[in-house]
Amino acid sequence: MIAYEDILTWIRTFAETVAAERTYLTELDSAIGDADHGINMDRGMHAVVGKLDGIATPDIGSCLKTAGSTLVSTVGGASGPLYGMFFMGMGGTAVGKETLTLQEFATAFAAGIGGVERIGKAQPGDKTMLEALLPARDALQAAAEQAVAVGPALQLAATAAEAGMLETVPLVARKGRASYLGERSAGHQDPGATSSFYLVRSAATAWSGL
Ligand code: ADP
Ligand code: MG
Repeated sequence: MIAYEDILTWIRTFAETVAAERTYLTELDSAIGDADHGINMDRGMHAVVGKLDGIATPDIGSCLKTAGSTLVSTVGGASGPLYGMFFMGMGGTAVGKETLTLQEFATAFAAGIGGVERIGKAQPGDKTMLEALLPARDALQAAAEQAVAVGPALQLAATAAEAGMLETVPLVARKGRASYLGERSAGHQDPGATSSFYLVRSAATAWSGL
């Protein structure tokens, strides 16, 4: 079982990771974008953590939705609405829930990706955050079907996300700012896929005992 407190720990761990990797994420974005991905994500996640401290009721859905709307309203770059829709999409499946099974978490995670796909309209292989999120989604679903425990399941998902992140290096970007570079976007790791790997790894770290 994943409890409300575990969701908070996940989000806080992600915020800490983004803060620690802020310069690296911005460096990745300077190669194929406008050098602000670390700054964007750190500003957004800092605001999210501040908001979560004020929530009184242990409702996972409303907590995730608050995280999403905070990202939309505090991040100017593409990643604000994209991560915003991810958390809002996740939250929509978990309204009124104080705990989630691994299957419920996998379903919520997939719904979050659905939100990213709806507003971003990216396809697999377009060199976006989906490159890390889609393999993680599939690994989570497979783990849930095989009744793997939560901690090991998230470890499998993080490994899948990391492989997807690394696979962005040779890809030519077809969405977002990096797509303006055309062929010259190849040879660089996608910043959004990197932060998305951190998102999944943060759950694996936070939930290693579950
Ligand atoms: P901006 O590009 O506006 O400066 P960021 O630098 O914060 O925003 O985020 C860039 C990341 O957003 C990219 O590395 C990519 O992973 C992701 N991204 C951009 N466009 C899309 C899209 N249409 N769908 C999914 N992810 C996208
Ligand atoms: Mg940018």
